[in-house]
Amino acid sequence: MTARLLTAMVPGLDAMYKPVDLVERPTPISHETSLAARWNLQELWIKRDDLSSPIYGGSKVRNLEYFFGDAIAKGATSVATMGPLGSHQVLATATFARIHGLHARALLTPQPNVHEAGLNKRLLPALGMELLRCERFLDVPMAFLRIRYRRHQGQRPYWIPPGSHHPIGVLGVIEGALEIAAAIKSGELPMIDDIVVPTGTCATASGVWLGLAMAGLPIRVVAVRMVPMMITGPGKMKKLAMKTLALLRQAGYTKEPQFGEILWVDDFAAPGYGQSNADADEAAKEVAEASNFRTETTYISKTLAMFRKSTLQGRRVLFWNTYSAVDPDPSTITAKAAA
Ligand SMILES: *Cc1c(COP(=O)(O)O)cnc(C)c1O
Repeated sequence: MTARLLTAMVPGLDAMYKPVDLVERPTPISHETSLAARWNLQELWIKRDDLSSPIYGGSKVRNLEYFFGDAIAKGATSVATMGPLGSHQVLATATFARIHGLHARALLTPQPNVHEAGLNKRLLPALGMELLRCERFLDVPMAFLRIRYRRHQGQRPYWIPPGSHHPIGVLGVIEGALEIAAAIKSGELPMIDDIVVPTGTCATASGVWLGLAMAGLPIRVVAVRMVPMMITGPGKMKKLAMKTLALLRQAGYTKEPQFGEILWVDDFAAPGYGQSNADADEAAKEVAEASNFRTETTYISKTLAMFRKSTLQGRRVLFWNTYSAVDPDPSTITAKAAA
């Protein structure tokens, strides 16, 4: 595994936040010529964060590297988080907590019955996660207090905020953006116009935007909103990036980042969180025919639906693939944890 690009850039960071290694760095970048032709893009590249870990990949693994490092440094024996029934963050937390010998618990909030909800129902208990499931949103506040503050073996669990929306989580994403910058500098990847990021709480989009700015590459970040407007937005995205920059300043980072433009896109979230639409279904079919990565509804195919419209035609685009290529397998993970 290569050394961390962020550590090289901000050597003081390790003394404050020492990450654990979960991501197989750098994740590959694939060149999608047939999808680009179909969608009238000049170029389409994919940052394969679906392959961030062979155990369980996707975007949350980058966030968890820093959260878990911080939890372990603080002597925590238990971690807690929350998310909707089908949450990838909850599944990633259960998976890597098991491997690192940490107890994990989560609050699950209601969500329409997407594929991931069934998957989580089966996998989370098998990974030993303690669960509190709410059937009604009304029950969430009380359950939240129990999940977050009730002690486990005399200790409060280390809290991982929903969606990893926190500067500590963003640090891991910056590493991914610096991998893109390194690929451009080495010539593996040509200069691109846009990076398209499926966007929930916007922790990923913030980190991509800040990381590119730190690398001196003001590439436009296209954040495609997939969750209700109430919990996310371009203001939140910038604010989280600035908070993360403030943390890096404390660690001794003094350069001025070169921020690119943000294109915040609200048009592809219908009909609602986790629910598909005709364009998303078509986009998923096109990927199945013309490429080899796996799609899901909540974030991926609905974001890819954007390529079927004219907005980015003729441009050189990189799609940030946030969805794991594999589902975690509790029996091999448990065997690994015991070893
Ligand atoms: C969590 C998640 C996102 C959204 O990430 P944010 O950082 O919350 O914006 C996108 N895609 C997938 C597959 C995810 O699991």
